[in-house]
Amino acid sequence: KCFEEAKLPDTVMECCKGFSKPSPIQSHSWPFLLDGRDFIGIAATGSGKTLAFGVPALMHILQKENRKHSKRSLPLCLVLSPTRELAQQIADVLSDAGKPCDIKCVCLYGGTSKGPQISSLKSGVEIVIGTPGRLKDLMEAGLCCLEEVSFVVLDEADRMLDMGFEPEVRSILSQTCRSRQTVMFSATWPLAVHQLAQEFMDPSPVKV
Ligand code: AMP
Repeated sequence: KCFEEAKLPDTVMECCKGFSKPSPIQSHSWPFLLDGRDFIGIAATGSGKTLAFGVPALMHILQKENRKHSKRSLPLCLVLSPTRELAQQIADVLSDAGKPCDIKCVCLYGGTSKGPQISSLKSGVEIVIGTPGRLKDLMEAGLCCLEEVSFVVLDEADRMLDMGFEPEVRSILSQTCRSRQTVMFSATWPLAVHQLAQEFMDPSPVKV
């Protein structure tokens, strides 16, 4: 019900500074996500879902980095988005949120030149936010490796499947860590999304 309950370090709390309390989707998801559980959120845009998964993503990275004592080799978190606009919006929020922790993001989407995206990847980023098509292109070209990714978010999963990205989503997910934490947000819960969750998430994810 209040931000203090989440026991976030100051560097992570920074992104919540402008808000008086966690939004409902944040207060319902953080306890599970910060505990490493797989999570399905049925939530609409405007609910504060970007920080609902963004804050746990930052915490996931901080915990991994502490353990490994090595920084920024390959990305640790992936956020898949159906559209370029949403991807950019998520990247803006997560770039700001990550700044105080020195966590870097790259946004990968089609319809624009690959050069700057490739440079960012080479310079080292912890979080990749991308649309399935461009991401798969870069992976196939050997320019984006997701084998260290252990925190994955499928945002607007229903829309992603409606847009025909299912083969790309499956192929991308299968190239991340087997022992990953998987988070899915969807506005609706059709069979195709349900099946994807069954295949790529823990047998009993938390559903809110
Ligand atoms: P989102 O659903 O992530 O696109 O967020 C929708 C809007 O809610 C954005 O403008 C956020 O800045 C804002 N927001 C995120 N978290 C909170 C919060 N805890 N309290 C109030 N507004 C928030």
